[in-house]
Amino acid sequence: MINITNLSKSFGKLSVLENLDLEIKEGGIFAILGPNGSGKTTLIKCLLGMVIPDKGTISINDKSILKKWDYRNELNYLPQIANFPANLSVNELIDMVKDLRPKTANETELIAHFGLEPFLKKKLGHLSGGTKQKVNIVLTFMFDSQLIILDEPTTGLDPVSLIHLKELIRREKEKGKTILITSHIMSFVDDTADEIVFLLDGKIYFKGSVSQLKERTKETNLENAIAKLITE
Ligand code: ADP
Ligand code: MG
Repeated sequence: MINITNLSKSFGKLSVLENLDLEIKEGGIFAILGPNGSGKTTLIKCLLGMVIPDKGTISINDKSILKKWDYRNELNYLPQIANFPANLSVNELIDMVKDLRPKTANETELIAHFGLEPFLKKKLGHLSGGTKQKVNIVLTFMFDSQLIILDEPTTGLDPVSLIHLKELIRREKEKGKTILITSHIMSFVDDTADEIVFLLDGKIYFKGSVSQLKERTKETNLENAIAKLITE
């Protein structure tokens, strides 16, 4: 579904991605792991056309996406940092996003899933970080797309909401969707991902399943497996 070859991106002197090759197959949950600043968001933004790579190719369903925009209608994206207008209510924001996208939205069940009904009339500026993140999640999942890209989806969520998010992701996977997640929360990835890549200093250190990584490092815990991978 996604093919990335030889992708490089620098910001000034800082080389963030270096000759990265990555193939992501259709269907299932694919996680990009890596410490803060390892280039996960930059990689995602390259996929979305929000960051222009210095070199390399990116294709989705065998079509190059560079300098194209239409493909973005066919994917759902959860940004790491959602800068919502503070003066809008949750309802107003949902309606605004529905007007912006040329797709039908199904938000009612999602709002109930995250218990957001009491917050619908509240202004976004008055919501807690976790509640804002739930709104962010509703805005992402209310449209039906084959590709779902989630940048640090667990940010600010309490344990119960985290369970609701996992449920939602699993449901989408069962429908055959491709879900690309970046995270530095190992337990979340351990529970959800079918395949992972570990990104460090702009390079891929490992690509495979969580169980393959555990086997290779002879560790039963993903955190320890990653630590071993780095020091190997
Ligand atoms: P991650 O998502 O893995 O935490 P990012 O992709 O956000 O990492 O950032 C990787 C590195 O690139 C960081 O050092 C960050 O400061 C830098 N960076 C990201 N975007 C920009 C930008 N627009 N201009 C300058 N530096 C940037
Ligand atoms: Mg990031």
